[in-house]
Amino acid sequence: MEFRFTPEQEVLRQQLREFFKQELPDDRQLAEDEVDSEGEWQFVRQFQKKLASRGWLVPHWPKQYGGADLGIMEQVIMREETAYHRAPLLDIFGVNMLGPVLMMFGSEEQKQEFLPGIASAEVTWCQGYSEPAAGSDLASLQTRAVRDGDDYVVNGQKIWTTNAHRAEWMFMLARTDPEAPKHKGISFLIVPMSSPGITVQPLINMTDRHGFNEVFFEDVRVSAKGLVGDENRGWYVGAALLDFERSSIGNAAASRRSLDELVQYCREGSGNGRPLIAETVVRNRLAEIAIETEMGRFLSYRVASIQARGEVPNMEASVAKVYHSELSQRLAGTGVEIMGLYGQVRPESKKWARLRGEFTMSYMMTLGISIAGGTSEIQRNIIAQRGLGLPRG
Ligand SMILES: Cc1cc2nc3c(=O)[nH]c(=O)nc-3n(C[C@H](O)[C@H](O)[C@H](O)COP(=O)(O)OP(=O)(O)OC[C@H]3O[C@@H](n4cnc5c(N)ncnc54)[C@H](O)[C@@H]3O)c2cc1C
Repeated sequence: MEFRFTPEQEVLRQQLREFFKQELPDDRQLAEDEVDSEGEWQFVRQFQKKLASRGWLVPHWPKQYGGADLGIMEQVIMREETAYHRAPLLDIFGVNMLGPVLMMFGSEEQKQEFLPGIASAEVTWCQGYSEPAAGSDLASLQTRAVRDGDDYVVNGQKIWTTNAHRAEWMFMLARTDPEAPKHKGISFLIVPMSSPGITVQPLINMTDRHGFNEVFFEDVRVSAKGLVGDENRGWYVGAALLDFERSSIGNAAASRRSLDELVQYCREGSGNGRPLIAETVVRNRLAEIAIETEMGRFLSYRVASIQARGEVPNMEASVAKVYHSELSQRLAGTGVEIMGLYGQVRPESKKWARLRGEFTMSYMMTLGISIAGGTSEIQRNIIAQRGLGLPRG
């Protein structure tokens, strides 16, 4: 089998590369959950608007909702180039998760209200799923939404909510029928973050960045117009969204970029009086990562081809998610080991940090990747049960 992009797609890739070279002259760009200061946030926002104005943020969406009527493979190219150039992604929750789900489950009114704002990078979303006692076992969530006239009244708490302190909107899962079996009493709601009764408290991660939050809801009135799909059927909407979240397209390109930089570092650096690249153990580790990165690329293409057929990837998305998150940890670990003591120096130390301290940071940041969006253990359960038909453990 041969994977080849069309000449038009190669032109798009070239245009994206030129755009990134022009707009992102710095060596190091910010990942979404690394954005800390207001200045960084504004930079990311402006950058995304420029990308959106060229129709490149959601090229595969229909024109009527702000897309360019192109295919999933054009989006794959966009995600690959974005990841390889470490372009900051502002609104993964809107672009990669809520958008596809609204296309499947949203009413026409909801599509018209919310999709253009995502496509133009005017609004930012956050995801209110996890709670203090509901992570892997998400269906046991306790945040309540009680119907009252044209509204729902929401009470409860969410946790680990990335970007809640910046987002204008949240999509959330809340319990609307406490008497029903746990998967059957949940609804999927859209909530303005400016609603009275919402309090956002920061959680600082181990790299000292503020990406996560706790979000508290106290008698928050939410219009029932924000109910996506049927009441009490939100579990199925929310689960489809997780399959989009886990598709991991772009991760192989991000790994490829880190690997390219590590190979270059090993060519230039020396240890024990010999170039690092001459060490057999270093060469073997780099070659292993190169093979794994290519494998990961094909796993992501598989997910994309399922999406291109208009289907929702399920087991395949879990395979890609486990593979990419664990590969990025191995890659970060390989980099840190090869650098020896320099591998522990953070980017702030301009003199001693190697490769701008990126491997040091990703050694810490990638720990969370195999937890976010469902842990590796949960993905393996999905692969075993839904993919291989094995009984529940
Ligand atoms: C970087 C990052 C960003 C995040 N962003 C968001 C966000 O924006 N919005 C949001 O809603 N949530 C977010 N989360 C939360 C994330 O979805 C949860 O942390 C995750 O689902 C795990 O839940 P938990 O932390 O409660 O762990 P637990 O569910 O308590 O799991 C603890 C351990 O037990 C294991 N385990 C649990 N159940 C099983 C089982 N059945 N079989 C085998 N092993 C099991 C788990 O794998 C894990 O190792 C984020 C998390 C991270 C790390």
